[in-house]
Amino acid sequence: MPNFTAGGPVVGMVGGGQLARMTHQAAIDLGIDLVVLARSERDAAVRAGSRAIFGEPDDPSALAELASRCDVVTFDHEHVPVDLAMQLARAGHLVYPAGTALKVAQDKLHARDTFHSAGFHVPPYRALEGDISVQIERFAATHGWPVVLKLRTGGYDGRGVTVVPSLRHIDAATTDMGPGDLMVEAHVEIAQELAIVGIRTPSGQWAAYPPVGTLQVDGICNEAVMPAPVSPSVASTATDLAKELAEHVAAVGIFVVELFLTTTGDLVINEVALRPHNSGHATIEAAMTSQFHNHLRAILDWPLGDTSLLVPAAAMVNVLGGAAGDPREHMVAALAVKGASLHLYGKDAAPGRKLGHVTAVGPTVEQALEVARRAAMALSGGAS
Ligand code: ADP
Repeated sequence: MPNFTAGGPVVGMVGGGQLARMTHQAAIDLGIDLVVLARSERDAAVRAGSRAIFGEPDDPSALAELASRCDVVTFDHEHVPVDLAMQLARAGHLVYPAGTALKVAQDKLHARDTFHSAGFHVPPYRALEGDISVQIERFAATHGWPVVLKLRTGGYDGRGVTVVPSLRHIDAATTDMGPGDLMVEAHVEIAQELAIVGIRTPSGQWAAYPPVGTLQVDGICNEAVMPAPVSPSVASTATDLAKELAEHVAAVGIFVVELFLTTTGDLVINEVALRPHNSGHATIEAAMTSQFHNHLRAILDWPLGDTSLLVPAAAMVNVLGGAAGDPREHMVAALAVKGASLHLYGKDAAPGRKLGHVTAVGPTVEQALEVARRAAMALSGGAS
């Protein structure tokens, strides 16, 4: 366990976005000082009053300064070069998750290789180099059309993922993807997308929330419900799988695995995240301990909080920037929706940008989702 100096522990978080903002709220409860490495004063966590130093997440001197000011370093995104994270650890700083674990969240090919070679179930895939069109064609000859083209690194919220329906769409698809190393994988027939939000500590404690069912629109996780509409046996298999994966990569902190439940009933790994995650936001209202509290508890090797639900069901709907401008202009209408919990991130509105989310709890996921959708719609300037 870290040996803290005066007062409570100081946690350094690389990144000042909404995840850092919500971690800051949890840090206040736990008597922890959070210092974020942010890009600017406009970053969501800085606007919420978190202490900050300013710099880029790939700047060695900014990272060293952050580490020198705190007891443990963690992340609100995965854009820190692995070698820099490892350098901090070599210099004697506690870095959770470790650079080696971070890599599986950064590089989709590395993640596929890591999990596939350890016997976990991932979609058939291959790296693309050289004459890409010919390789995609060969891959599709074995695995069928459509195929899914992915940027190995840097993609998020579906940017960097394109479904290629047939041979004649290859050129357009590769042009759309822009620069970067690509991989191709088989298109999975998905019955339900799931996320297991788990937590692991340096000393190996593990806990997980009930599975989350996610709904993507245009590749962005748009809605999430807890518990996911899956059988108890799928829920327990998925949760066991998450634990094995977290142990395999020696995750510390929140560890999320996004899974595809296929139309034939198999569970296939999509990707992992080693930080608080959009699919876990409803834990703030719906669980005994939120994912943000548990992330902090985990990286400090403190006892983990109870992950059980306080309510039968919960739903979360993201608020994305759109034509209606800033959701803060529509607060009054959204606040009139009874039972909806609003979370705005204080970010400047831009089309497609995640500006907030709404959570609702209820007797069923359908009822909770209906309330959350109405408030999210109101925030987007639509009818509530
Ligand atoms: P990101 O890293 O941008 O979130 P993902 O790799 O998670 O991208 O893919 C985004 C979405 O694209 C997934 O949630 C899923 O809906 C769809 N998708 C990704 N890979 C496949 C696949 N192999 N088969 C079918 N759909 C896929």
